[in-house]
Amino acid sequence: MERVFNFSAGPSMLPLPVLERAAKEMICYGQSGMSVMEMSHRSPVYEEIIREAERLLRQVMEIPDTYKVLFLQGGASTQFAAVPLNLLSGSKKADYILSGQFSTKAYKEAQKYGDIAVAGSTKEKNFSCVPNAEDLVFRADADYVHMCFNNTIYGTKFSYIPDTKGVPLVADMSSCILSEPIDVSKFALIYAGAQKNMSAAGLTVVIVREDLLGKARAETPTMLDYQVMAENGSMYNTPPTYCIYIAKLVYEWILSIGGLQAMRKKNKEKADILYGYLDSQEYYFAPVEKESRSMMNVTFVTGDVELDKKFAKEAAARGLVNLKGHRSVGGMRASIYNAMPKEGVEALVAFMKEFAKNNPKN
Ligand SMILES: *Cc1c(COP(=O)(O)O)cnc(C)c1O
Repeated sequence: MERVFNFSAGPSMLPLPVLERAAKEMICYGQSGMSVMEMSHRSPVYEEIIREAERLLRQVMEIPDTYKVLFLQGGASTQFAAVPLNLLSGSKKADYILSGQFSTKAYKEAQKYGDIAVAGSTKEKNFSCVPNAEDLVFRADADYVHMCFNNTIYGTKFSYIPDTKGVPLVADMSSCILSEPIDVSKFALIYAGAQKNMSAAGLTVVIVREDLLGKARAETPTMLDYQVMAENGSMYNTPPTYCIYIAKLVYEWILSIGGLQAMRKKNKEKADILYGYLDSQEYYFAPVEKESRSMMNVTFVTGDVELDKKFAKEAAARGLVNLKGHRSVGGMRASIYNAMPKEGVEALVAFMKEFAKNNPKN
């Protein structure tokens, strides 16, 4: 069967050249005589892979030397607990910006550990936008502020970096990492599950400013302690070796097409095609406020639940798969991560036009 255009929110499409390279090296990696999957993580061949992965990620994201890069497991959801365990040890206060489901989950998890306040929320607007900068309220003595930069489920994104007045800013970037350049130095900690834009499921990357290490609460499980992981080069135990290898191939691919500047250009072009069409017609409705639109996850509805269902089904039959919106919000969602080619978005818009013509609303 031919490959389809996969609009899944995650795990999601990987760049074809990455898959092809992995396929070529699947059974026998270099001169090792074995698959990367079969290698000891302590072997020199594997050590070279993980070291190179870190070096490339630092290069791609221009991560300052004052930050540690950790390759962890447990998904972004484990970081919902790891962040407070590691950072909530001073005033035991933290402020959370609620801009969707994942940030709300992170907020609820953190409440187990201290005095957690809402710095701002768009829940009453059904998360159809992110909070305005001027509406955010931060406590000067908080240990950190937490935000989710791109809201995968609703299709919103922050177009600005909140000014926390020196309070460390923590960001969940699971669904936008590597989609465009970001100034890492504006954040104290960035975390991301890899299965959206970086690798296969099973790897979580944490980028953390060094001065925040070594402050973990006494009850922090060893496996969640950033300091322990940093001291052991992410190899306190067996890391997700194959996912790290795939991530390395993805970093190489990004560099090969010109780095994050070029990536942003491509992503913007794709998003403009889709939003441009959405804005040009009245059959579909895009619920997200314009200034909060995500470049990675594009949500839209027909306004008729049955038509939405029909849309997703007929699109799938055309090789445009996983367009059904998140189970909690319905409608449609097209996730157009780095690996989605422009042709995929063009094919989607062509199908949308055809569907609108063939299914008039009364
Ligand atoms: C997917 C996602 C998560 C959850 O990731 P897991 O790796 O499944 O725990 C958290 N935050 C954001 C922004 C996501 O997109």
